[in-house]
Amino acid sequence: MRSMAISVTLLGTGSPIPDANRAGPSTLVAAGSARLLVDAGRGVLMRLAGAGAFPVMLDAVLLTHLHSDHITDLNDVITTHWVMSLTGAPLQVYGPPGTQAVVDGVQAMLTADVGYRLAHHDDFAGPPAVEVHELDVRDGSERFRIADVDIVVQPTDHRPVEPTVGYRISHDGRSVAIAGDTVPCAGLDQLCAGVDLYVQTVIRPDLVRLLPNRRIQDIVDYHSSVEQAAQTAARAGVGTLVCTHFVPPLVAGQEEAWRALAAAHFDGAIILAEDLMTVEPAPRG
Ligand SMILES: [Zn+2]
Ligand SMILES: [Zn+2]
Repeated sequence: MRSMAISVTLLGTGSPIPDANRAGPSTLVAAGSARLLVDAGRGVLMRLAGAGAFPVMLDAVLLTHLHSDHITDLNDVITTHWVMSLTGAPLQVYGPPGTQAVVDGVQAMLTADVGYRLAHHDDFAGPPAVEVHELDVRDGSERFRIADVDIVVQPTDHRPVEPTVGYRISHDGRSVAIAGDTVPCAGLDQLCAGVDLYVQTVIRPDLVRLLPNRRIQDIVDYHSSVEQAAQTAARAGVGTLVCTHFVPPLVAGQEEAWRALAAAHFDGAIILAEDLMTVEPAPRG
């Protein structure tokens, strides 16, 4: 059986709002021989296990930004990678400037635990090893390779949260863009140009405005609406738009209303993500 060049598993499709059925934002990309975890939201390791993977199987963790909903379980990734690793190889973490400080903070939080485990098990080489690669794309894009996979990093626009980045992951002629939280912007257009699969955080401003909570009203101006995500998809000529990180939470029975908002602006395939859904780029004619 031929394996796909790239597959994307939506591990967590929720948002900061707790949801019994949707874990926090995180996405597993299997490309070529690499497994890449994009973001590490609430419940990431439960969903990773559901996808048949453990942290030791990850080639890298890619963070789009440092909002808590995207990094809250990074501590679990770091600890479990360390505890299950037989080689002591460092966990590779990529992210925007500020990522090293977050990892340092997580390590500090884990000081007591690390002490207990080092005292109890004499085969650890040392405390958790994490190698951080900060990606500064203020003056343009950055690209790097992990195994046989090309990764391009573009700046996105989630202000006042900054810096934020999106990842374009390519292998063997197929490519996916994991955009994270962003409004439409030049960096996002470049990230998505011609990709097979575009994964985007989406909100419904019309529904958010109905919520009796002033604080949540603030999110409207720094996320793509469903319509904007579809417009980006159309402008960039992507194959499939994958909507995720729904705000407010996508209620069963309302799927077609969300889909119709996107379909009014984009002719390609539209997928409303659910936890542990795996999507592979369809052949494009
Ligand atoms: Zn965010
Ligand atoms: Zn978010």
